[in-house]
Amino acid sequence: MQPRDLSATSPYVPGRGIEEVARDLGLDPAALIKLSSNENPHGSSPKAVDAVHQQADDGLHVYPKAAHTDLTEKLAAKWGVADEQIWVTPGADGAIDYLSRAMLEPGQSVLVPSPGFSYYSMSARHHHGEVSEYDLSKADGFEQTAEMALDAYDGERIIHVTSPHNPAGTEWARSEIRTLLEAVDDQTLVVVDEAYGEYSERPSSIGLLDEFDNLAVMRTFSKAYGLAGLRIGYAAIPESWADAYARVNTPFAANEVACRAALAALDDDAHIEQSVESAQWAREYMQQELDAPTFESAANFVLADVGDASRVAEESQRAGVIIRDCSSFGLPGCVRISCGTREQTKTAVETLNGILAEVTPA
Ligand SMILES: *Cc1c(COP(=O)(O)O)cnc(C)c1O
Repeated sequence: MQPRDLSATSPYVPGRGIEEVARDLGLDPAALIKLSSNENPHGSSPKAVDAVHQQADDGLHVYPKAAHTDLTEKLAAKWGVADEQIWVTPGADGAIDYLSRAMLEPGQSVLVPSPGFSYYSMSARHHHGEVSEYDLSKADGFEQTAEMALDAYDGERIIHVTSPHNPAGTEWARSEIRTLLEAVDDQTLVVVDEAYGEYSERPSSIGLLDEFDNLAVMRTFSKAYGLAGLRIGYAAIPESWADAYARVNTPFAANEVACRAALAALDDDAHIEQSVESAQWAREYMQQELDAPTFESAANFVLADVGDASRVAEESQRAGVIIRDCSSFGLPGCVRISCGTREQTKTAVETLNGILAEVTPA
């Protein structure tokens, strides 16, 4: 017995967890700072946490239905779209899968950014699709333009766009997204991943759904809303093919607790404001204070060009600060450091500067 040929699919490499690293190094988990997965260092919205407790008391024995409907309606109202246009999913990763399911015939291709988020290509391959890449250039500061994607474009069924980009942090201008949408075939779907959208000052591409039929925009509660452990996200899509949801949705995949927590989090303006302000402070601090070149970032992390990334990440971890070696993103010279609280961020910068002073010859 063997699974099907999965050799084209590289395994997903997550940021390392605190317990895992603590066990490996024989350290107290409480002494570690985890800045490797772009999580919210301020935790979840207290209102969301209350909603989770409440739901546990009310009962978990019933399939999620009302909460899913309520969340769909609330998100539709927030963005000014019809309820059908919101596809609630188990995380944004779930949205990537649902769009692959809805769009890809076997053998069709998707176009993904390189470097970039690896689940786009994994999902395409799960759905018997092929993958090609468009390159972002480190020398150009990972600037993102329509031309870069269009240079590589060859009629793919889906083009994935990440704004703000992970791991670079750079954004697409709305005019560039518009150019891309207008230039591609009308059977090519442009998927704009706004997993870090709350941290950005630019308007969401959801505002373009009125004008374009070949656009989908993904958002998540995992990052700014601090609910990564609950797995809840969504896609906003045009009205014309919104009914495909009923055919591609895994029944009840977005769970009751997650939907209730997301509903509560949407009402917690104070938590979101604090989270966003804190990330803005932290990324500026890192850009100014880190003794390594950094890139422009509109997200809750900063990419730094440190030379020997795997060594810097390893030594940083040994010193208690877990950061992300970007080799698995195809950037062996770079590390990605998530924005921590003020205290965590300052400790991280101090730790990294100490390591950089040794690793990089003066
Ligand atoms: C974190 C992340 C996601 C996935 O988020 P989930 O909602 O937790 O599945 C999607 N895209 C990018 C670029 C991310 O960084």
